[in-house]
Amino acid sequence: MLIQKFGGTSMGDPATIHNNVVPIIRGALVENRRPVVIVSAMTGITNELLGLAQRALDKESGEHSALPGLDVIRKKHLAWVQAFQRETNWSEKARAFLNSELLRLEQVLSAIAIIGELPVRSHDAVLAVGEKLSAHTLSCALNASGVPAEYIDTEKIVPISLKYRSDNYWDEVATLFNSRLSSVPSGSVPVLPGYFGQIDGGILAAVGRGYSDFSASLVGRALGAQEVQIWTDVDGVLSANPRIVPDTKIIPRLSFDEMAELAHFGAKVLHPFSVRPAVQANIPIRILNTFNATCPGTVVETCFTQVEHPCRSVTYKKDVTIIRITTPRMLLAHGFLAQVGSVFEQHRVSVDLIATSEISISLTVDQTLDENDALVSDLTALGEVDLQRDNAIISVIGDKIAEEFTFSAMILSELGAARIPVKLISLGNSLINFSLVVDNVQCERAVQLLHARLHPPE
Ligand code: ADP
Ligand code: ASP
Ligand code: MG
Repeated sequence: MLIQKFGGTSMGDPATIHNNVVPIIRGALVENRRPVVIVSAMTGITNELLGLAQRALDKESGEHSALPGLDVIRKKHLAWVQAFQRETNWSEKARAFLNSELLRLEQVLSAIAIIGELPVRSHDAVLAVGEKLSAHTLSCALNASGVPAEYIDTEKIVPISLKYRSDNYWDEVATLFNSRLSSVPSGSVPVLPGYFGQIDGGILAAVGRGYSDFSASLVGRALGAQEVQIWTDVDGVLSANPRIVPDTKIIPRLSFDEMAELAHFGAKVLHPFSVRPAVQANIPIRILNTFNATCPGTVVETCFTQVEHPCRSVTYKKDVTIIRITTPRMLLAHGFLAQVGSVFEQHRVSVDLIATSEISISLTVDQTLDENDALVSDLTALGEVDLQRDNAIISVIGDKIAEEFTFSAMILSELGAARIPVKLISLGNSLINFSLVVDNVQCERAVQLLHARLHPPE
């Protein structure tokens, strides 16, 4: 069994779906690889839905301001249905589903407007529409092209009563998927939405944008798939984000650990949560290009010995805040680090990098989180707190780079020569990650310089 996940970039327009996505799925079916397909919303639709929910809340215009947004969603999906409408049976089914989902969405938006509140569950119900519509329409498009397919409604897979309890929660979710999907019919391609609509705390808080990669990996684990394929708009995991660096190179193979670091520190090509279920079930993840399907892409798997290049990729994460807590009391004091740690634990704020000196601790958090007044006030009880906003973490990820003693010197001298100040360094806590913090405005230039030095053009 093979999981094939298609992202928003692959679900952009009817021509791509018809000329690229459908043939890729057909190919896997013909080769008898038993594909199970998972899709993200069509490109732009998730943003549209987020906007709709906010506009419904807007007291001034209320529910009516949402209606033009509904029209955008309707038109985009109808244009797709038009593309396979010669098969009237399937196009009628797709239209009927679209109409009933949009009617239901309108009702949810009206309720939000009337109550003047946006509970997490309603927000998730609104978001899930994007993935449901693309999955259902794709199942009809496949059938209309002669590829037998079945839409699987996964909306009620996770019961409302299932409460988030750290890691166990996702194990339970995987088990629920397993029992729901064990009845998937053979001989036709199951098509699943990349979001199932009920996650304790809400999908954005619990997982975040790009969540359908994680769904794909969870389903892969639940079904014991041979491989999870992530079909996107680049040739694989690259040596840097191609949107800011020219001359990037494809990384043919990555370990799960390297991928987890890369994804966590900004490589948007895979959601960081996707790695864990794959590790647990030892399922390789392959990143492939929908627009260049013959390219072998990148395979992410358990450790391997051959190293093509010690530096795999230079990645970055913008808009982070450095929080520095300084206290003279830390001099020879025990337990200060633990106290600071427990404040972050209490407020469920996760820290990316940390550096300590005799009297201070500096750490980084996502900029959105430093607005947490209660967190800052609890930290102030421990010492003087200084917030530095508008920074970026740059991470160089690679096999045992922390052991290469010339590596860090090379990185720092490159940035020094370019007069880019480094505000915080983290090296050695993981052998495969060297991270440092620079000003947001210097981020792109720093990544370009480091990439050119570490991966010189051939
Ligand atoms: P999808 O819609 O298929 O989920 P995403 O936009 O979420 O696609 O992820 C693909 C994008 O990730 C690429 O277009 C690229 O701009 C970006 N990206 C960032 N860093 C990297 C990297 N190191 N390698 C490949 N792509 C990257
Ligand atoms: N459609 C969702 C998003 O835009 C999920 C995904 O693309 O993976 O975040
Ligand atoms: Mg994505």
